[in-house]
Amino acid sequence: MAYQDEITHMNRDELEELQLERLKQTAITCYENIPFYKESFDKVAFDPYTVETLEDIRKAPFTTKQDMRDSYPYGLFAVPREDVKEIHMSSGTTGIATVSGYTENDIHAWGDCFARGLGYAGTGKDDVVHVCYGYGLFTGGLGAHYGGLAVGAETIPMSAGNTKRQIKVLQSMGSTVLCCTPSYAMHIADTAIEMGLDPKKAFTLKSGIHGAEAFSDQFRENLEDKLGYKVFDVYGLTEVMGPGVAMECDRQAGLHVAEDHFFIEVLDVETHEPVPDGEWGELVITTLTKEASPVIRYRTRDITRIMPETCACGRTHRRIDRLHGRTDDMMIIRGVNVFPSQIEDVCTAFPEIADWYQIELSREGGLDIATLKIEIKPDFPIDEIRKIEALQKRLQQALKDELAIKIGIKVVEPHTIQRSEGKAVRVVDLRD
Ligand SMILES: [Zn+2]
Repeated sequence: MAYQDEITHMNRDELEELQLERLKQTAITCYENIPFYKESFDKVAFDPYTVETLEDIRKAPFTTKQDMRDSYPYGLFAVPREDVKEIHMSSGTTGIATVSGYTENDIHAWGDCFARGLGYAGTGKDDVVHVCYGYGLFTGGLGAHYGGLAVGAETIPMSAGNTKRQIKVLQSMGSTVLCCTPSYAMHIADTAIEMGLDPKKAFTLKSGIHGAEAFSDQFRENLEDKLGYKVFDVYGLTEVMGPGVAMECDRQAGLHVAEDHFFIEVLDVETHEPVPDGEWGELVITTLTKEASPVIRYRTRDITRIMPETCACGRTHRRIDRLHGRTDDMMIIRGVNVFPSQIEDVCTAFPEIADWYQIELSREGGLDIATLKIEIKPDFPIDEIRKIEALQKRLQQALKDELAIKIGIKVVEPHTIQRSEGKAVRVVDLRD
């Protein structure tokens, strides 16, 4: 029995009934306790007391990141301050941070959501969960930590950084589950290899729970090869909770949304109308149990789709597909929409290219120029110009075939692209 199996296998009708009951309650709580929602509901004449079906929530207005910033710091809290037990904030790379508050129940629900994913990966009481997501205002560290505790595992709060020490602890404590960004997992693996270790033998990892950035299937495969474990994707965002909103099961075919805690919609990016299951659009989330800072129809800017079939694992909670990225990450290169993860997908299929890349956007004579910087593997003869040129040509052709983009390729020496302990910097925008 995996953690909370009875909830993740719930009969659909019962689950939807539960969702509706919680949705009504959340809408009413927001209306009664948060002036922002009272005003925004009244503006479009949405009466939360008239919600009869799950679809009725579509009559409610969206909440955007800007709304959250405007309400900084406590404007969107639904409970008195004495009931708030923890605070997290998003990194605010593009401005003021957004704040999420947690009551005691919220912290338990968060732990439950992440613990389900650990359960999908077969984690139990005998496991050692090594958490090297950053601890702090960022939700990665503590989200994984609460999940580890909930599932009853031994949980090691490493936080990010000091990679050699991470390696030592992974070895000496016999860690079985690694929680961090996928790019940091790759960095740990590569560093271990440089130290003369074979990570497959030196570590006792069974699984990795990796999220907070989009990564391609090929990147996943390379990671699994290097570390000899199985990689599970995790999705979440501070604005509605943190990691654990959706977690991948062992079929590696989409992430089960914790539907007893979240109601999801996938909407057309332009029209904001719902798209049919299976089609890509923007993920919009309404919290169903969050007490301290509930959110109605939060526009995540993340692009995904609802997987139309039920999962072969037997769980009834619907799945979203692995993310291409955020609408903010999407680049338009000479009129073609491209996500960095799609470029990654093409690059990682080349065995001579290392798992590190960066896309540089610049402007020349009014035209956007994209240059893809790739690192080659240490054993590739970088001095042999002909071989480098041939590689550039083949990669360029592959990108053209797969994504219909023309992009400059710059081959750089091993270890020259900056490594990150948190989210990798995949795009450098030099345009003003
Ligand atoms: Zn499944």
